Amino acid sequence: MNSTNTYINSDVCQKCGKCCKQFWIYTKDKDYAVRLSYLKTDKITVKKFKKNVYRILFDIPCSKLEYKKGKYYCRNHKRFRPNTCKTYPIQCFTWGSDILKIEKNYCPVLKQLFKYAEEEGLSFEK
Ligand code: SF4
Ligand code: SF4
Repeated sequence: MNSTNTYINSDVCQKCGKCCKQFWIYTKDKDYAVRLSYLKTDKITVKKFKKNVYRILFDIPCSKLEYKKGKYYCRNHKRFRPNTCKTYPIQCFTWGSDILKIEKNYCPVLKQLFKYAEEEGLSFEK
């Protein structure tokens, strides 16, 4: 949930909370990825994508997430929020279209944006 980037702002965000119910990062650090994959928990999943890129998924909701009248809100919206929240999904764009194809399954706004880009022949390739 964010308001400060040009892709998804508060007006278009559907407040589904998907980007706050789980947390995920992409890394090229194989050591880090493998170490996390060894943790004895089903709350962390490590998957390898394209050459040397790992996606680490934490299936743990953010403690700042709040549910009200069918929508999700960030309790910290007007206070401190990490940059990853404020700028989501801009970071995903830096990993190219393969990653965006995965991300669009999470964020409905990103899905629309991706569809629009495909129709317009725009590419997110690095
Ligand atoms: S801090 Fe707010 S915007 Fe960031 S993940 Fe938590 S609930 Fe979502
Ligand atoms: S997944 Fe997308 S639409 Fe849903 S709350 Fe997050 S930014 Fe908004």
